Amino acid sequence: MFAEFALHERLLKVLAELGFATPTPVQAAAIPLAMAGRDLRVTAQTGSGKTAAFLLPLLHYLIEHPDHRAGTRAVILLPTRELARQTQKTIEQLATYTFIKSELITGGEDFKVQAARMRRNPDILVGTPGRLLEHQDAGHLVLDDLVALVLDEADRMLDMGFKDDVLRLAQHCNANRQTLLFSATPGGEALTQVAAAVLRDPQELML
Ligand code: AMP
Repeated sequence: MFAEFALHERLLKVLAELGFATPTPVQAAAIPLAMAGRDLRVTAQTGSGKTAAFLLPLLHYLIEHPDHRAGTRAVILLPTRELARQTQKTIEQLATYTFIKSELITGGEDFKVQAARMRRNPDILVGTPGRLLEHQDAGHLVLDDLVALVLDEADRMLDMGFKDDVLRLAQHCNANRQTLLFSATPGGEALTQVAAAVLRDPQELML
């Protein structure tokens, strides 16, 4: 049962409305560790419920630790615009009863319009590495207050050539952040290198 995780009641309420009664295996394994602040390296198939596995602990933390003066508090990286869009929709759904705001920042959209949306200081940015790095280079991203960095579908991100962009973005992130890395496959040498560069004492989960 989700109630066993001591998630905030506003999250339990929306989970009940969505009909999510029982956590999936990846959620059961990852949520308590993420809520305890651990970095995670998770290997789990698409469709396993991994999106909620990282969003629920993140949203719980942001509800419990509001900071209206802070800049961006979480960045979620995905390999494609469509996956980023789906993830942002899931955030909006799970955050229904909260004040948490997110923005989608991907290629193929107007850069200046995105910069204006970022100035409204959303709590969570969901996007693709290349476009987020362009905003970083243009001085639009402040990652000093970041509490969490999520790399989702990390194996695919590297297959698509985003390794250097991911590493450069991570270098700009608050060093005390929590980092959660998810991939559908164990990945190769490049994924091992990225994991070593971005994760601190990670717990590894294979599901
Ligand atoms: P994901 O692997 O994150 O893409 O999730 C796959 C699908 O499972 C999504 O459509 C979710 O809405 C759904 N889902 C995630 N967690 C649960 C759960 N605990 N119970 C029922 N459905 C879920």
